[in-house]
Amino acid sequence: MGDGITVVASPKVKADDDGSEEFHRLRRSVLLPDTSAYPLGRAYIADHCANCLNPLPDGNEGLYCSDWCKETAGTVRYLRGANRDGRIDQPDVKEAIGIRLAFIMAGSYSALGRNLSPTTRAKVKDRDGGMCQSCGKPGSEIDHISGSSDEPTNLQLLCNECHRAKTMKNMIPAPDEEKALIAALFIERIVPDVPVLLADDEAEWQRAWSALKKERRQRLRDEIESMGINLAGLKTRAEWIVKRDAVLSERAQGQPAPSESLSASDGFNWDIGKDTFLEHLLNRSTR
Ligand SMILES: [Zn+2]
Ligand SMILES: [Zn+2]
Repeated sequence: MGDGITVVASPKVKADDDGSEEFHRLRRSVLLPDTSAYPLGRAYIADHCANCLNPLPDGNEGLYCSDWCKETAGTVRYLRGANRDGRIDQPDVKEAIGIRLAFIMAGSYSALGRNLSPTTRAKVKDRDGGMCQSCGKPGSEIDHISGSSDEPTNLQLLCNECHRAKTMKNMIPAPDEEKALIAALFIERIVPDVPVLLADDEAEWQRAWSALKKERRQRLRDEIESMGINLAGLKTRAEWIVKRDAVLSERAQGQPAPSESLSASDGFNWDIGKDTFLEHLLNRSTR
């Protein structure tokens, strides 16, 4: 099970991996999140990254803190499926998995320049007449000729086979530290029957992610609207945050500190709840 997978290699182009302690620490937290507080498995915490479980910033529109985390969870789900149905032992699947793991070890695809826009893809495909520039068969993948530049002169159309062969040739052997990390990834996230993260669960995640995303949006929206801020016409979380912060800072302008403004002599009743306190503040500021 997964034999041979750990002996993969790293791509020569390592955009994120600068060899620093910081990178190694970050990579560990992306690949092996601490789920010790969730013994039942399928861990998911609202408003936290579905992969590394770190808090998400308000303005983040999704369920992951980074492309790296998103791609890692996707790879884990793919590996769990392949492990269960035995595909993981097929040589071609093994090779494809090795490549995928090598990229995850080095950082996100986008950091490695592997995310091209559909327009760029279409242009290169068109320019190369739809044919693999290596063997002349119909091509399907865009290859970075050398390095990670997205300039058209650095891109070419290749077929699946030629692309994979070229990628494998550009790999260097994985250092022991990476092999150990991949072994731990298998033990902790791929092999267990019950996935440690909800985002690792092939079937459940497919069912849940879009509802969770909607819920996360609605939660923030409700929170901001409960401050009396009207978000009509604003679509993205980022827009809501900008509006919220603008309104709050406007309200704070020229406001005395609450401790001065709300003395007993103002006739403010301190016994009433927090919400009323907030409302009182807001009323004062709009006067
Ligand atoms: Zn994350
Ligand atoms: Zn080819």
